[in-house]
Amino acid sequence: MRPSKDPSKTRENETVSVLRFRLEPTKEQKQTLFHTFYLCRRLYNEALEERVTAYRENGVAIRYTEQQNRLPAWKQEHPEYKEVHSQVLQNVLQRLDQAFVNFFEKRARFPKFKNKFMFRSITYPQARDTYFRENQVYLPKIGWVRMMAHLPFDPSSVKMINVKFHDGKWYANLTYVTEAAVPLTEIQNTVGIDRGLLSLIATSDGEFFENPKWLQKSEKRLKRKQRQLSRKQKGSKNREKAKHELQGIHDHVANQRKDHLHKVSRLLIDRYDLICMEDLPVKGMMKNHRLAKSIGNASWGKLGIYLEYKAKNAGKQLIQVPPQYTSQLCSGGCGTLVKKDLSVRIHQCPTCGLEIDRDVNAAINILHRGLEILQQVS
Ligand SMILES: [Zn+2]
Repeated sequence: MRPSKDPSKTRENETVSVLRFRLEPTKEQKQTLFHTFYLCRRLYNEALEERVTAYRENGVAIRYTEQQNRLPAWKQEHPEYKEVHSQVLQNVLQRLDQAFVNFFEKRARFPKFKNKFMFRSITYPQARDTYFRENQVYLPKIGWVRMMAHLPFDPSSVKMINVKFHDGKWYANLTYVTEAAVPLTEIQNTVGIDRGLLSLIATSDGEFFENPKWLQKSEKRLKRKQRQLSRKQKGSKNREKAKHELQGIHDHVANQRKDHLHKVSRLLIDRYDLICMEDLPVKGMMKNHRLAKSIGNASWGKLGIYLEYKAKNAGKQLIQVPPQYTSQLCSGGCGTLVKKDLSVRIHQCPTCGLEIDRDVNAAINILHRGLEILQQVS
């Protein structure tokens, strides 16, 4: 799949990633944030109305700059908008502009008016390193908000802060840009990848990467040995021996798995200039008592790490995107959320009729999201 616009033109030597941290706003901060959502949504809908009218009557698209230039006048008319940071307001208009770009380039339907459930995030497009201190982030017009930074990051590399309310929780998505080790290649081939339910990964090109048979065999053997060990009497010599043996198999399988992940990541880096994947789950979510699932998480995490440094060394780009709704959202551009539990293998859209493997559908959404992020920061 190719991007609709050549993002490499505006970017030279940088790679983009997104870090997601939990936020814990105070009660007052939550109120301010919700009020800000409301004001931004109203602006979005007003600006959309204006564009719809222009489009219906003259078939033309009002440009972003025209609407942005009118923001000061809008604030004069509606003084409550002085409570919102001006760059946040500009970003609202940029989002609308992006929705129109997607429409004109046939990637999405005509932009919709947003109700309060559809507008639950704001973006500060120009973060500063002074916005961060130990477990706190500064959101202009909101204040210092508690942020659970579970990973170290370099504040001066953060370009953009997106604040999101999702499933009753608050998140900060930090888009950060780091310099690539070598000049970036021009972006021609792009791909989104998702971890498959049955396969290792599914791509937006409809391809599936499986774990090789020999690896599956070794993993089965490992599981069998683990069961045998649990039946041996505690403290017995036999148990010690079995434990030792198990450790050996465990290391062997881990190495086989690493080899395979290296092979897959190499192949993807050779083939694509831009790879989009879901960002890694937060640490708490990685803890899982089911072995198969924890191996899956560990593999996925390793694949991300391998892709990241291989991309850097090859002048390719890896973008990690927030994963919300990627498996439900229809990738056909109609915007429908198609709920499905894990047993449903095929994404079938009642709105546009798209019928496609569920993991491929998710991978396409991940690609779209990555391309959006790339356009926002460039
Ligand atoms: Zn659809």
